[in-house]
Amino acid sequence: MISKASLNQRIKFIVMSMFIFCGALLLSPSYVVFAQSPNQPDFRLPLPPGKDWVLSVETGKNTNACSGGVGGRFYGGGYDCAHSGRSKYSLDIVDRNLQDGELTGVADVDILAAAAGTVVTVRRGPGNTTGFGNYVVINHGNGYTSFYAHLKDDSIPAAISESSSVQRGDKIGVMGTTGNSTGIHIHFEVRYNGQGALESSTLDQLQVEGRRMVDYLVGSTSAPNYFRSTNTPACSNGSSENFRNPATGGAPVHPNGTLIKTANNGAVYLIQNGQRRWISSPEVLRALYQNGGFDFKDVITIAADHEFRQS
Ligand SMILES: [Zn+2]
Repeated sequence: MISKASLNQRIKFIVMSMFIFCGALLLSPSYVVFAQSPNQPDFRLPLPPGKDWVLSVETGKNTNACSGGVGGRFYGGGYDCAHSGRSKYSLDIVDRNLQDGELTGVADVDILAAAAGTVVTVRRGPGNTTGFGNYVVINHGNGYTSFYAHLKDDSIPAAISESSSVQRGDKIGVMGTTGNSTGIHIHFEVRYNGQGALESSTLDQLQVEGRRMVDYLVGSTSAPNYFRSTNTPACSNGSSENFRNPATGGAPVHPNGTLIKTANNGAVYLIQNGQRRWISSPEVLRALYQNGGFDFKDVITIAADHEFRQS
């Protein structure tokens, strides 16, 4: 049996604990304001990693500038009225980033899957001159699909076909300007259960790179806002056969710029020009950086069953 005094002590303790816990919740904006959508995929920007890209159009917001009352603010002023309806939750990103200078079409920009999933639609072109032009749709499960629009003609790899599975970071095409588009950019869109008013509260919380999609803001053409991609080109199946086997000359699963440490003996390799290069000391790596010898992508550790086949 618990005495009344002891019971009071316990209640006091429980109330104090709740107060402290709730206070912590209130003080921590990540819990209160930015709760992630339930079961949402871990979306990254659909662009090469380690670079800060210019956002040109935001997700759709209420505006009188569009006849439907919703449009995405454009960094040049005005609104893109196509960022409305089922396409409200879209970001347009142009081929400009800090790290390569201002590209503006001088080099192809790979478009990468934002998260793992199953390809449900592929429009390769050429000849897709309206709407999304050439585009890919990926189903991520739990009601989420992502769209990648205006891709360059004939840029969608053969491996990307309807019902094929993709990992985050798989190349699904090249940034282009096909369809209803006035310049080279990627239109990246997410839908939830086909999207609609009832689901918009879910998409309002949807995060890309840990930031709510609705919080990606454009700035202006003279002072654009840049957003970092941490997308990681995937190691698609982890088998040694697909790990750039020099004997077969197969395509590297790990992209150029990947620094690889082997789990069994600690040897370090760099994938450079599609070949593995032994990094014998930190000084060797440092020298490569200084000379701008490679485009750094990622550091991974591989297990013994994932190593290079030496035949
Ligand atoms: Zn767009």
